[in-house]
Amino acid sequence: MFCLQTMFCKNTGECGRQIPLPWPMHQRISAFPQPWPKDGKPRNFLCRRCTHVYEYTSGDVHPPSDAALGKPDSDVFVSRISIQCGQGKPAHLVHILVSECGTPLQQEGASQLIGESEGQGVTCQAGHTLSWRRNQRQAEKIRLSFDPDWHTVQ
Ligand SMILES: [Zn+2]
Ligand SMILES: [Zn+2]
Repeated sequence: MFCLQTMFCKNTGECGRQIPLPWPMHQRISAFPQPWPKDGKPRNFLCRRCTHVYEYTSGDVHPPSDAALGKPDSDVFVSRISIQCGQGKPAHLVHILVSECGTPLQQEGASQLIGESEGQGVTCQAGHTLSWRRNQRQAEKIRLSFDPDWHTVQ
């Protein structure tokens, strides 16, 4: 049961879990909140069940069921894990978002997730497309923060 909008994990063969997605920061106060950040750009999300990373767009978002509308979503955190792209110069990052109910992701957990993750068709800031298998990403070279599109970041 989700009282939030959700996306279905694109690892449909093995997983297909519903990924909870809170309203983006600047959309919550409007009468008709938009499901996705204003820029409309795709975002990479990591699924907490299967740890596969795919690119998602606003078209992948499913609205919450009617009965659940209006419930608070403050206990859902969208963490942003940034890793090195490794292609092209200068060095730049790939942002991977993790949406989680309960407690926010910690550094150790984030490192472990990236090490275990598999990416498919993930796009970096410079537009490169990346794919990787389990244990191919260096878990120690990550940066963890709250995603500014979903949270106020100091
Ligand atoms: Zn999944
Ligand atoms: Zn790149």
